[in-house]
Amino acid sequence: MTVKTRFAPSPTGYLHIGGLRTALYNYLFAKKHSGTFLLRIEDTDQTRYVEGAVESLIETLKRMGLTYQEGPFLQSQRLEIYHKYADQLLSAGHAYRCFCSKERLEELRKQQEAMKLSTKYDRRCLNLTKEEVEDKIKNGESSVIRLRIPDGETTFDDAIRGTITIPNSEIDDQVLIKTDGFPTYHLAVVVDDHLMGITHIIRGEEWISAVPKHVIMYQAFGFEMPIFAHLPHVLNPDRSKLSKRQGDVAVEDYLNKGYLPEALNNYVALLGFNPSGDREIYTIEELVEAFDLSRVNKSGAIFDVAKLNWMNAYYIRNIDINVLLELVKPFLGDMVIKTETLEKVLMVERSRATTLADFAPLARMYTTQQSYNPEALIWKKADKADASKQLEGVITFIQNLELSIFDDSALLESRIKEYIEKGNLQTGNVLWPMRVALSGSEQSASPFEIAWVLGKEETLLRLRNAVEKLNT
Ligand code: GLU
Repeated sequence: MTVKTRFAPSPTGYLHIGGLRTALYNYLFAKKHSGTFLLRIEDTDQTRYVEGAVESLIETLKRMGLTYQEGPFLQSQRLEIYHKYADQLLSAGHAYRCFCSKERLEELRKQQEAMKLSTKYDRRCLNLTKEEVEDKIKNGESSVIRLRIPDGETTFDDAIRGTITIPNSEIDDQVLIKTDGFPTYHLAVVVDDHLMGITHIIRGEEWISAVPKHVIMYQAFGFEMPIFAHLPHVLNPDRSKLSKRQGDVAVEDYLNKGYLPEALNNYVALLGFNPSGDREIYTIEELVEAFDLSRVNKSGAIFDVAKLNWMNAYYIRNIDINVLLELVKPFLGDMVIKTETLEKVLMVERSRATTLADFAPLARMYTTQQSYNPEALIWKKADKADASKQLEGVITFIQNLELSIFDDSALLESRIKEYIEKGNLQTGNVLWPMRVALSGSEQSASPFEIAWVLGKEETLLRLRNAVEKLNT
């Protein structure tokens, strides 16, 4: 059997973190089995259509590297197909036309609710004769097509949840074709999964309650049953379903904030899936290798931004510097910085960044001297006069250093340390004011690293500025 999976989002907005996980698992599973991953846009609900959503979904999948081999198929372009299959169910008696008005259905629902009954269609139109149906159509009455749920019970296997059995008395006669002629999700999904040859349906657990209806349709059509796998919810830290109210949920927002696709894929893959052991960092190839539906958890997985931040920082620290360089550039806006300098900034600062966006203020510190309070130059164990004296000493020392020393940050460091040692100076008294003078901040990389990035001239300029600040 050639494995074929699909991601079938409805274009109601952006790609949600939960949607990313569904897409990713379908991608991983197909890759692992040398199969095909397909994209289908489920856009038959015209009331939920959002302009630009399809383009945004496709773009985000692309940015995440989740390439599909087939599609995108748009259900709204396949209406004739669904009608053909609905007609097939009608003529075989597995479906029927229903002419009940919205008002009647609403009234029925209210009555059932008042009597604490499950809300289901009462089958008033089930036994209309062929002539009655034809008359109503001739009279211009609008109708829907409903699935006729047979007696008995429905059983199916879920690769994550095991075997599930539901008495058919609990299943509503689902509308398959609406009055506007569009199919409902239920008809379109069954027909398409069959026609597109989907072997494994991997999706969020919110769809599991729909499976019995689908199984009944598979049986009515005589289609071969696919394998179902329903993924546990992605949760907020308070265990409610992941929602916008408690933070970002759109994948594009994370990308735009400077999360790396690799880090997002890695983090999201582990939401509800445990490869073996405690290991947490996986390349996409390693995820493909490790992925197994039997290792997907049944219970919900909490989306923890702190953990994602940790992982993103890990990727930023470890990714190839040239790749990082290209990734960072779009986050610098109109900043003017030489590539050579930027590369040095990244080498020095990458351990301090959580997202790519963090590099903008970090790089700006090098391109432009930041304003700071001169008091910050004074080390806690020293005073203003000492700070000024130490800075002057360092200025003289650096002035006399050959330019080539600045090519090598380790060499620069050892020379300055030698200067401190030989002069019998206190490290803190020298390095604290030097660091603040160069960075304009009490928290920064080491003064040697900063000086290395800045170069001799700019280093001296900033040190002299600091002395001036202290003495005015
Ligand atoms: N179109 C559904 C959604 O938007 C997907 C359901 C399915 O995968 O079968 O989530």
